[in-house]
Amino acid sequence: MRTLSIRARLTLWYVSLSTVIFLLLAGAAYGLLSYNLSHSVDAALNGVAKALTERVHNGFGIFFPSEIDEAFRQFFGFSPLERYFQMFDPFGHSDPRQPLPSSGKLPLSKEAFRNASQGLATYQTVEGLGKYPVRVLTVPVMQGGRMINLIQVGMSLQSISETRVRFLLSLAALLPIGLLLAGSGGLLLARRALKPVDRMVEAAHRISAVHLGERVEETGAGDELDRLAKTLNEMLGRLDAAFSQIRRFSADASHELQTPLTILKGELEVALRSPRTPEEYQATLRSALEEVNRIAHLVEGLLLLHRAEAGVLRMDRQQVDLGQLLKEVYGQLKVVADSRSIQLRLDSMESLCIRGDRELLRRLLLNLTENALKYTEPQGIVALSLEGEGKRVSLLVSDTGIGIPNGEEERIFQPFYRTAAARSMAEGGTGLGLSIARSIAMAHGGTIQVQSTPGQGSIFRVHIPIES
Ligand code: ADP
Repeated sequence: MRTLSIRARLTLWYVSLSTVIFLLLAGAAYGLLSYNLSHSVDAALNGVAKALTERVHNGFGIFFPSEIDEAFRQFFGFSPLERYFQMFDPFGHSDPRQPLPSSGKLPLSKEAFRNASQGLATYQTVEGLGKYPVRVLTVPVMQGGRMINLIQVGMSLQSISETRVRFLLSLAALLPIGLLLAGSGGLLLARRALKPVDRMVEAAHRISAVHLGERVEETGAGDELDRLAKTLNEMLGRLDAAFSQIRRFSADASHELQTPLTILKGELEVALRSPRTPEEYQATLRSALEEVNRIAHLVEGLLLLHRAEAGVLRMDRQQVDLGQLLKEVYGQLKVVADSRSIQLRLDSMESLCIRGDRELLRRLLLNLTENALKYTEPQGIVALSLEGEGKRVSLLVSDTGIGIPNGEEERIFQPFYRTAAARSMAEGGTGLGLSIARSIAMAHGGTIQVQSTPGQGSIFRVHIPIES
């Protein structure tokens, strides 16, 4: 089943709520009207009874219909068509001399008679006298603490019933009009409230990978929709940055691959241009192999980075003695350090084991140490150290090399990023070493940070949890 649009649902809610409120108000108004009408009839009947009682006190024994009419007119403002009047002696017998109005006789209930003999008035609604119920008031006429007469006045509730019905009919007629107004109002409100959403949808349709720079309009009102627009824009900003990074990465990767491929192509074309001696072919092949190795190294690095970022890096987890591994890396690079007259030292070294991938960790150590050797002048010092810090190990590779310019400490971990000094050096790296090192540290639940003073040296700190 297709769900209704928010606009339609809001309108429906609005109409339903308005109906409930309307019905509640109508119920309350009807109740109030009924109460007031009954109350005014009772008050008027009381007035009529009092006026007539007064006359009995003044010695009137019998009332002419015109006098009764007058009393009704005085308190009701009009003389009701169906009005009742009766007078009884203290024993409850009606006075035969008293002419009855055309409406007929009223019954005298036991309760009313009992109340009257105690000096109390009684209001009753009597059914069955005509088409409509009759409201009857029975009052005693007292003299010297004794009941000398009983007077009954009554009035048909026809006009009240008709007023009530008319009121209900008016409400029933107003309800559809009210609902129509509420519905149109609700639709208008919902439309207005959701207009910004429509604009956001339109903007979102326009935005694609090519137009990630576009933004959803923010009203600045600070309301929920404005916050939604802000959140969307922040998300678009992050997407934009991620897309730019991917684009830059692809461009850099293609560029890095293109250089060795161009060299390789050139060498092979030159070699094929004219016949060569076997030695010359061998030299060309050796040089070509070097370039192929470079390409293979680059592609392997890219693949590793891609797997790490996709979270699918294959890891052969085992207990790795980092102290031992550091010694091996030291042994491997000592020759390189010596050849450059750099002092490679193994400072404070504990035998610390962590769970991890031995080859990946070796790669991490090699990348950091090779960098330290690469970016340090002859006579400089490169020191490796390892220590345990509670539940993690801390691995330090420090050098007295060229250092990293302020503000570039984070950027050197981005793929292909190289500082200006590094770019001007004859020995070119791939620019992937630190990104790979960071990915390996992260795959082990660890981090890498760098602290550096340009011209004085750098310290790379790797922290890895022992139970990664
Ligand atoms: P590269 O192959 O260029 O060494 P890396 O990712 O290993 O690539 O390093 C990125 C950049 O970080 C380097 O080009 C260099 O500018 C800077 N860098 C890395 N290690 C050091 C260091 N020990 N001292 C100074 N600069 C360094």
